[in-house]
Amino acid sequence: MQRFQFKTVAEYILYMTTPIYQRTLQRAVSCSGIGLHSGKTVHLTLKPASINHGIKFVRKDLPDNPCIPARFNCVVDTSLATVIGTDGVIVSTIEHLMACLAGLSIDNVIVELDSYEVPVMDGSAGPFTRMILDAGIRELEAPRHFFRLTDPIELEQDGKFVGAYPDDTFKITCHIEFEHPLIRSQSCTIEVVDHVFEREISSARTFGFLHEVEYMKRYGLARGGSLDNAVVIDENNVLNDEGLRYEDEFVRHKLLDSIGDFSLLGMPILGHIITRKSGHAFNHAFLERFFSEKASWHTQTLPEPVAVASKTAKSLAI
Ligand SMILES: [Zn+2]
Repeated sequence: MQRFQFKTVAEYILYMTTPIYQRTLQRAVSCSGIGLHSGKTVHLTLKPASINHGIKFVRKDLPDNPCIPARFNCVVDTSLATVIGTDGVIVSTIEHLMACLAGLSIDNVIVELDSYEVPVMDGSAGPFTRMILDAGIRELEAPRHFFRLTDPIELEQDGKFVGAYPDDTFKITCHIEFEHPLIRSQSCTIEVVDHVFEREISSARTFGFLHEVEYMKRYGLARGGSLDNAVVIDENNVLNDEGLRYEDEFVRHKLLDSIGDFSLLGMPILGHIITRKSGHAFNHAFLERFFSEKASWHTQTLPEPVAVASKTAKSLAI
């Protein structure tokens, strides 16, 4: 069996948790569902893509099949969902699919759609996660490029906060506060690693308050929204018959949204991101701050581990 040697424990942990080569899918996979805001049926196909392609959305329903990169500088709206666009063509509600791709360390994918909104599925990233794991993940012969934080970057406004701090792996902490007896104050931290994302975060559904849902429907928004794709709460209760999937499903969904939002940096991060009372719009404002503070990070690839020649090599060899 091949054995490897690491200089430090941090290097070993990084190697065990973080793929160092770019990844894509083994084969194409498709699904269909309705758009949360449009209420329209959408067909979605994920296709393998080559080295350095990144994540790009393709509108198959429009002439010339326009293509929109999933990058922070293509974000055109963050009021109800994360919307990207170029030249007047948009794709809406990308955050759960983006979270899934980032959570499973998938770097290169073509996302084909026949409408302008990613299907909401069950309101979580669980169906996308199962679809991708079913297709299989393929490693490509090129290193992944990472942003590595070297100094803190922070943004605070009106009680909202996002900070990014140096760390050896990618971690996110989210903290939410709502004046509601079922939510109150919740915090959650995860290390963004395939199996942790799949098990702890991917199935957490989006949530809404009954009065907000009624208000949005009155104005023609959230047309596809129902108890099949969101947790809805009234003043004291969860209205979904099956209840919650996790006791703290609300903050876990916030974490899911945040992973999707920060993936729009375009490359994975080595650092710890902490958010407090943030949402899509404030996360996006943080991405702009991130790129304005270029002295606080650098980009890098990760070295291949050094193979150990002798069985008598010292500790930290596996
Ligand atoms: Zn969400």
